[in-house]
Amino acid sequence: MRQVFHLDTSQVPTHWYNILADLPVEVPAPRSAPRANARTNGTVPGVDGEGGDADVEANGHGTPVRPQLPLSMYRQSIGRTRHVEIPGPVREEYQRWRPTPLYRASRLERALDTPAHIYFKYEGTSPSGSHKINTALAQAYYYAQSGVKQMVTGTGAGQWGTALSMACLPYGMECTVFMVRSSYRQKPYRGTLMRLNGARVIESPSMETEVGRAALRADPDSPGSLGIANAEAIEYASGRKDARFSIGSGENHVLLHQTVIGEEALLQMEKAGEFPDVVIGAMGAGSNFAGIAFPFYREAMQDHPGTRFLAVEPDACPKMTRGSYLMDHTDYSGVTPMVKMYTLGHTFTAYHIHAGGLRYHGAAPIVSAMYHEGLVEATSYSQSRVFESGMAFARAEGLVPAPESAHAVAAAIDEAVRAREEGRERVILFGLSGHGLLDLSAYEMHLAGETVDVVPTDEQIQASLRPLIESS
Ligand SMILES: *Cc1c(COP(=O)(O)O)cnc(C)c1O
Repeated sequence: MRQVFHLDTSQVPTHWYNILADLPVEVPAPRSAPRANARTNGTVPGVDGEGGDADVEANGHGTPVRPQLPLSMYRQSIGRTRHVEIPGPVREEYQRWRPTPLYRASRLERALDTPAHIYFKYEGTSPSGSHKINTALAQAYYYAQSGVKQMVTGTGAGQWGTALSMACLPYGMECTVFMVRSSYRQKPYRGTLMRLNGARVIESPSMETEVGRAALRADPDSPGSLGIANAEAIEYASGRKDARFSIGSGENHVLLHQTVIGEEALLQMEKAGEFPDVVIGAMGAGSNFAGIAFPFYREAMQDHPGTRFLAVEPDACPKMTRGSYLMDHTDYSGVTPMVKMYTLGHTFTAYHIHAGGLRYHGAAPIVSAMYHEGLVEATSYSQSRVFESGMAFARAEGLVPAPESAHAVAAAIDEAVRAREEGRERVILFGLSGHGLLDLSAYEMHLAGETVDVVPTDEQIQASLRPLIESS
């Protein structure tokens, strides 16, 4: 029997947790910071292209881009309020599947013959199959409130596009998704899922934008990249008055929205009568890691010093373990404002790996600042270790982890094995950020012995970092 720690629907958190209220470290401001429009006087008026939005303007790259945030969400990204109320309609949407279950992985413990207690918080029960819908719903709500009619985004592996397409439905908004061509073709069901939710899915590079046309002129067979897809989405949205580009991770407000995960997990661990010695999450740009870790960080500061927080990245995209803490752009085309983060350089192109959601070049500014101060740790794993861990977990627990989530599984297994070797109990909590049922082709390739472990060389990393170091 597997122990599960359920909560009632009424126990869905009423507030998100803003770690900026408690961090003992400074998170440097973006260069070319977003500015709130003074004329709006604190209200969120209808969209007039300028009015209620906090414009984020490009710096020095010619075309101005404006991934405008509604004022309400812009405030969340800089605010110091510790507990931010979740709007009623968003909480109601959460209640359709939240609280998500927290399980004890007893069979995995037995398979590893470990004295450690392993717990996992499972976000794969969400309608989109991962944690990303927690912020997608919040963002769709705030954009709809400010008069936006269409959400536009880029998606790599497809998890974010799926989440946003679903999140637009309750608010009657249109959704346009530029999906990286290689994923579009390798994972056709992701595209199907988005389309059946009413989204328009465009293979990127496309002929719909200048960025896309240029990429296709340069290489008609371009497999695309998340950088190009996002650049297309930004261009597409900025040419339409009532459309906005939305981003699924990294930003302060996105991390905030994901803290529902950790707030629930806190209550569930309390039911289990334990507090974790280590909290583990897979690291893309940091939203699911922050989501589970930050509320535990708050409690640990008070009552549990010595609690560890471990972010897990792929060997192929080691921004924290091998990158540098520098000002860098969050997008490949270099049109967004610069933020201080652990980065491999915005022009770094990670090898293709199945955990597409972890191929992002940088780590969220908040997580980066914490890592810089030693408040969180980071580690990295090869693809084969990740798939082996994902399969071991599936056989023990009957759930197939998304390849991204399997990174957290690998680290949890290592912690449990170390507990065995050291002959002591240890309480391990990890975030299982999504299910892998639409990623079976990746598992199939691994079973066929086709997994390739690729690691960038120091020279490759230096090549994309050098321009940043020279200009800083
Ligand atoms: C996108 C994704 C991640 C990584 O993104 P973060 O923003 O770092 O959480 C991890 N797991 C799954 C299932 C994802 O879809």
